[in-house]
Amino acid sequence: MQLITTIAAMRTARADVANLGFVPTMGYLHEGHLSLVRRAKAECGCVAVSIFVNPTQFRPNEDFGRYPRDLERDLALLAAEAVDFVFAPDAAAIYPEGFGTYVVLPAADEFLEGAARPNHFRGVATVVCKLFNIVQPTRAYFGQKDAQQSVVVRQMVRDLNVPTEVVVAPTVREADGLAMSSRNSYLSPAERAIAPTIYQALVAAQACYQAGERDAATLKATLSARLAAEPALQPEYISAADPLTLHELTTIGPQGALLSLAVRLGSVRLIDNLLLV
Ligand code: AMP
Repeated sequence: MQLITTIAAMRTARADVANLGFVPTMGYLHEGHLSLVRRAKAECGCVAVSIFVNPTQFRPNEDFGRYPRDLERDLALLAAEAVDFVFAPDAAAIYPEGFGTYVVLPAADEFLEGAARPNHFRGVATVVCKLFNIVQPTRAYFGQKDAQQSVVVRQMVRDLNVPTEVVVAPTVREADGLAMSSRNSYLSPAERAIAPTIYQALVAAQACYQAGERDAATLKATLSARLAAEPALQPEYISAADPLTLHELTTIGPQGALLSLAVRLGSVRLIDNLLLV
């Protein structure tokens, strides 16, 4: 496994590879990330993983400064997966003095995470576009956990004719259902015990959907009622949206729905979703 920190060295390494799988991450890796790495390895043979806590996707009041970082541990986990290249640039390499071009998808800020975190997806689309230009992957792997992120990346790739195939893989969960996330490390033991209620609430609404309910308000109320059992869980939004456009639905049709939510638990903000199909 080769650890690469400069753009020039990444380009050189990439030049010799025909089929390259790519997994962009912010590090502090868990099984969710590793599931993407394994899939990329199986499908492409050669895999690059980036580790970069991207400052432009955090708002000033968010957790950029305290975002968990442990490069040594990450490198050990990636070496065990026979990853070929780890690209871990510093912020000055990605955003040098005078940097001034952003990839903006104005519509993304109208919905869900985009509405809750203005400019977040500008940062995401910009860094993913830059990483795609540097790494030039054949295929890039993203998690369904960040559903809107994958919608944004797919649109950016389509709109800008990026020659990379985007693959979205299922959310990996802890045994009790909590979606794996680097941010779970912020949870106190008491909060960690409450957090699985988020998934249980999604599953309660999914059961309602599977029993034939198609009214979005009813499904969201089911989710909300299950969440309310734990007053420490403060929902920021609860949504039933078209899986492709992310437009909020009133009735769920044949296209199904992306049921998603963001909640605050103490000082931690968690997101999760299920696809209703
Ligand atoms: P992050 O390091 O949080 O930016 O995530 C890097 C990639 O891993 C993104 O494509 C995420 O959607 C994906 N990912 C994060 N958590 C999970 C999970 N629990 N299951 C599957 N993919 C995940």
